[in-house]
Amino acid sequence: MKKFISFDLDGTIVDGRYGNMVWLEGVPERYAEQYSLPVAEALAEVKKAYDSVGEAHLLWYDIDYWLRRFDLAISVPELLDRYRGYIRVLPHVAEVIEALHTRYELVIASNAARIFVEKELGHTGLERYFSRVISATSDFGMVKKEQGFYRRLCEVLGASPAEIVHVGDHAVFDFEVPRLVGIDSYHYNPAAAANGAVINDFTDLLELL
Ligand SMILES: [Mg+2]
Repeated sequence: MKKFISFDLDGTIVDGRYGNMVWLEGVPERYAEQYSLPVAEALAEVKKAYDSVGEAHLLWYDIDYWLRRFDLAISVPELLDRYRGYIRVLPHVAEVIEALHTRYELVIASNAARIFVEKELGHTGLERYFSRVISATSDFGMVKKEQGFYRRLCEVLGASPAEIVHVGDHAVFDFEVPRLVGIDSYHYNPAAAANGAVINDFTDLLELL
């Protein structure tokens, strides 16, 4: 019955540190250097600019836009590469992914821009286990994984909602929303008590799926 397992990326497969390092250290540090400002001041200016666009807007997710807007003399690949050491696979993810990929088609469904998703996944060494990588922002022009995102996911996979299970760390966008369109979901929350739909250890998936 279930054919596809779809995973969120940040906070589910990898910890969310990498993105924060790029956006809140990499960009401000470069900005500070280029405009001869203290880093704290550069960070305040950069954050103010991010806020002026806001996360409801696609540009907010577009690193290329920000490097151009700030006129920073660093390329996107160079910036993304600089922080690759912060990409960390979360506990037990590798063994669970390896086990599940023999029985299901595994996909990534993230709202991060594709360039981040590919960088992170590439660094984990788990890329080969995923047949598709879908970025809400880059592929569908959507900033959040609302119901429309999951409907498009079904279309792209050529699957009915009943054939997909989604796993992710956001209580709304990875758990409640997919259920609204008929996709079974598990909320990965290491801080919570496990109860059927909430898993606090990735290995729980091996019993559930
Ligand atoms: Mg997440």
